[in-house]
Amino acid sequence: MSEYKTVLAAVDLSEESAQVIARAKAAGAEDAAVHLVHVQEPMDSVYLGVVPFGPVFPGMDEAEEKLREELQKRLDDWAKRFGLSDGNTHFRYGSPAHEIRTVAEELGADLIVIGTHGQKGVQLLLGSTANSVLHGVGRDVLAVRIHGESDD
Ligand code: AMP
Repeated sequence: MSEYKTVLAAVDLSEESAQVIARAKAAGAEDAAVHLVHVQEPMDSVYLGVVPFGPVFPGMDEAEEKLREELQKRLDDWAKRFGLSDGNTHFRYGSPAHEIRTVAEELGADLIVIGTHGQKGVQLLLGSTANSVLHGVGRDVLAVRIHGESDD
């Protein structure tokens, strides 16, 4: 029987989130609290190295704010879909791996569940986010192999 009492599932809000949340629920004890975290990445981080500083395009801040509202709504929708309470969703802004680790620490989570794709090369087994979360984390991490339509 599982002893995980507080489980944190990291979701990117794509359809693969269903697989991650389902595994998080299955991995926890019967009375476990399952939490969801989504991290909004700053738009300018995508362009680092291309644009040295400041907004990448006019109106970026407003666009980011709109996106934040939409992502927060989607996170709540995922929680509802899996019967999780409102207080169990955590929306953050910044670097996904760093924020996932921070939320896990704040909650005292004993298990982090994260999706992983079949990458090649150095990321052969672990996706980049899963790989980064693992670095320096002092708790168990379950990397869920995401199955797509193209899988055998
Ligand atoms: P990746 O291989 O980097 O695309 O990451 C795959 C997994 O990392 C997803 O299935 C999620 O579990 C997690 N993940 C990726 N991005 C985020 C994000 N912005 N917020 C929370 N979790 C994320």
